[in-house]
Amino acid sequence: MMKELSIYIHIPFCVKKCLYCDFLSFPAGEVKRGMTERKSALSGSGMVQDDIEYYVNLLCREITQSAEVYKKYHVISIFLGGGTPSLLPADRIIRIMEAVRAHYRVAEKAEITMEMNPGTIENGEPEQYITCGINRVSIGLQSADDEELRRIGRIHDYAAFLKTYDLVRRAGFRNVNIDIMSALPGQDAASYERTLRKVTALAPEHISAYSLILEEGTPLHERQSEYSFPTEEEEQEMDRLTRQYLASCGYHRYEISNYAGDGYECRHNKVYWQRGDYVGFGLGASSMVQNVRWSNPDTLESYAMYVTSAAVKCGYDGAECGQLIEVNGQEEPEAGYILHRQVLSRQEQMEEYMFLGLRMVCGVSAAKFEHIFDSPIEGVYGGTIDCLRRQGLLVRDGDGIRLTERGLDVSNYAMSQFLFD
Ligand code: SF4
Repeated sequence: MMKELSIYIHIPFCVKKCLYCDFLSFPAGEVKRGMTERKSALSGSGMVQDDIEYYVNLLCREITQSAEVYKKYHVISIFLGGGTPSLLPADRIIRIMEAVRAHYRVAEKAEITMEMNPGTIENGEPEQYITCGINRVSIGLQSADDEELRRIGRIHDYAAFLKTYDLVRRAGFRNVNIDIMSALPGQDAASYERTLRKVTALAPEHISAYSLILEEGTPLHERQSEYSFPTEEEEQEMDRLTRQYLASCGYHRYEISNYAGDGYECRHNKVYWQRGDYVGFGLGASSMVQNVRWSNPDTLESYAMYVTSAAVKCGYDGAECGQLIEVNGQEEPEAGYILHRQVLSRQEQMEEYMFLGLRMVCGVSAAKFEHIFDSPIEGVYGGTIDCLRRQGLLVRDGDGIRLTERGLDVSNYAMSQFLFD
């Protein structure tokens, strides 16, 4: 029987770095090999075209040479993320998709998502995305308030978002996600509610609602004293608004930060939370196949060495026979790159099953746990489940074990209880 695989493809380029961002992405003007500011400039300069070519060629080569490992899989979802994939001219997106389709069995109804940022697509491009099979887009709005957008260093205003949204709808996209954020500097519950109202009025099929996390090393973290952030009570009020307002508009919460209309839960993200097999292509991309996790090298030079190395086709190789090729900086220092790889122990697999699965509102299945680990869940986690149940953070109904609304509010605490010492 064919196994299921999801594919993540990383495009690390952005117009410029947002002030809160710690993702592996480069402001286009600072990419080592000399990217320039905007996509409009990409078509004019030979130098920049060479750079785009360089990365897309590496990506297509990695996709192609890994395919042999996954010949017994069919692909149920693809996610082009970043960075800003929509910063690439559409013909490069088409080439990447052609490389996947030429070498992998992509299921007819596969969910194929592309992330985009307002102001980075041009007339006619969404139609080209549809032609190459992309059937879902995820647009990073974050806030409908221009002043809030400016404070966090976004490249766009709300009007630019509306134009992008209109372009993708006119092209025929019927599955659209909008990302929004709460706890932004200068934001209060009233302005957050205005964002919720404006976004739901557009009737996207899916809304991702995250709270801003101040990550160390980001400009927003370094200069936090210059900003006024919402108080803890205000943040709680925004969380309550998210849940109640989105529910009243017909969006059900199916994961801590994700809300969907009926039938529009994101299939690709559910693969991560349910520990399905996925492979990531591109700079720094993460993969997990058959309980082996690895991350690609995270500098352009080391990624290029990895892709062009004759020794390695994929971080997980020999999937059929269960053999693994050892590749890391210590054993082959002359190779010049490090592939971070971890073969998960049985305990680590159990931990992941619980703390990833409990992110989902439907929780985890006790029967599936027993099937995978050949051990009843009570025998492993009985004490933890009882304790969280007594605290009102978790419920068990029949086969299902899930966090309550209060449990989801303190999910980091609840999920950490499933880690072995
Ligand atoms: S657009 Fe996204 S990936 Fe790019 S800098 Fe902003 S937050 Fe980071």
